[in-house]
Amino acid sequence: MGGRKRKKVIKRMRKTIPKIFACPNCGEKTLSIVINREEGKAVIKCGRCNIIEGDILVSYVEEPVDAYGKFVDRYYGVGKPVKTNEESGKPSELENK
Ligand SMILES: [Zn+2]
Repeated sequence: MGGRKRKKVIKRMRKTIPKIFACPNCGEKTLSIVINREEGKAVIKCGRCNIIEGDILVSYVEEPVDAYGKFVDRYYGVGKPVKTNEESGKPSELENK
């Protein structure tokens, strides 16, 4: 019974550590990205130019770098928008009454 190893659980605060990226707006490395796992969104803030984006959707497997990629895409207007306009894009059939 001797020599039994006890597993020590090391708490890693990985998900709460903000990551710092280069800001596409001001070019400084002052862009912090915090992922809110409960909401499945990333909050992106620049401490220099105060650009803020709190509506980047991230899945469980995605990390701040993925959110950063989406943010940059959105900033430059390339790629697909995260949100679809399906709800607001109602057909104009009403006009043909
Ligand atoms: Zn900035």
